[in-house]
Formats: sequence, C-alpha cells, structure tokens
Amino acid sequence: MRSAEIKDQRPKTKDQTLRVTEIFLSIQGESSHAGRPCAFVRLTGCPMRCVWCDSEYTFTGGARLGFDEIFAKLDEYGCRLVEVTGGEPLAQKAVFPFIAALLDRGHEVLIETGGYVSTEKVDPRAKIILDVKCPASGEAERNHWANLERLNPAKDEVKFVVADLNDWNFAREIIEKYDLQNRAGEILISPVFGFESLREIAETVARSGLRVRLNLQLHKYIWGADVHGV
Ligand code: SF4
Repeated sequence: MRSAEIKDQRPKTKDQTLRVTEIFLSIQGESSHAGRPCAFVRLTGCPMRCVWCDSEYTFTGGARLGFDEIFAKLDEYGCRLVEVTGGEPLAQKAVFPFIAALLDRGHEVLIETGGYVSTEKVDPRAKIILDVKCPASGEAERNHWANLERLNPAKDEVKFVVADLNDWNFAREIIEKYDLQNRAGEILISPVFGFESLREIAETVARSGLRVRLNLQLHKYIWGADVHGV
C-alpha cells in the first residue's frame, strides 16, 4: 500500500504538531497483534543508532503535520488499530498528548518504542511494545531499565531483537533478572531479518522453557525487507 503523501501546507502551533515520515495502512507485522489491519504513524528522528536498524530513512526529513491532518488521514483509512512508531516515537514531546487524543478518538493504540526514552508519560490506555536492545545492536548500554518496571502484563509487550545466540543469552538474563514472564503480556524474540539460522533460534526458543514468543516480521516476508510504507 502507498504511504500518505506528506506535505507541509500551513503554519501550525508547535505543541499540536509532530514531525512525520509516513502514514500508511497495512497489516501489523509483529507482536501478538501480527496479522491485524493496522494504520501506522511513523514519526521522524531517533537518538539511537542500532547496527541492524531498518528505519534509517526516518532519522531526518519528514514533514511537520498538525494533529488534525494526521487524524484526517487516519479517518480515511477507517482502521481502529493505530501504531505510533518511528524512528523513536517518544522522542518528540508532542507525542504524549497525541497518543491521548488518539485514544480519546476511540483508537486502540500501539506504541513501538526503542527503549531509550522513558515511557512514564505515555497514556496508560496505550499498549506499549518495548524494545530491549541486545549487545549486537551496539546500543545495549542505553536501555532505560526503569521502563521494564512500568510494563503492564494486561497489555504491554517486550521485544528482544536478536542477531545471534549471544543476544539470546542476554535476553534470557534480562527476562529472569526483571521477572518479565510475570511483568510483560508477551515476550517477543525477534530474529533480525536474514538471521543466519531461523531453525536454530526457533529450536532454542522451543527448548527454553520460557513463556516467550518467536516474532517474525510478517510484513518483510510479504512485501520484502526494503519496501517502506507497507
Ligand atoms: S531504536 Fe529503532 S529506529 Fe532507532 S536506531 Fe534502533 S532500530 Fe533504528
């Protein structure tokens, strides 16, 4: 599906605007919501630089849009489920009132966050999918660990993107240290796209005895790894 054409059209007050890379309708590719129709609002900018990042095109550019313009696009799609993603969606201050406004408009809201920014100000009705960065990302030192203590097992999920078995061992340690099997609604083990042996990680997950879920990025298998806005 084509992403929305993003154009700056008129001046807006800054607290009711967000810098947006793309808005599009697709299928949710990850998490326990995988396969559901979902509208995506992809915000621009990220303070992290994960080695395997697949969203580098969000680091700069985008267009400043008013909340009303984003709502209008979402209304066209008529999709109740909305994911706010990035880049790092929580890096823009206006995202917090935006999330609350989406919820007030009756949307079910997913927030896909990289785990560096505090989730404290996120409206508690939103469903957080929180990344924990593993060593191979190059950004494990920047995890904001207090975010793990705020997870709500009724709705929030935690995701480990793993590039190798060392990352898997790191994930295991964090799952145990922070009692994530009780704290998180789902624990997603997400091999980087092109992981050398999916069978190996699948068998490792199967034997783990942990309440975890292998998380493949459905959209990349459908549309390909380098296609944006789907
Ligand atoms: S947090 Fe996400 S968007 Fe930012 S560098 Fe890492 S993978 Fe890319």
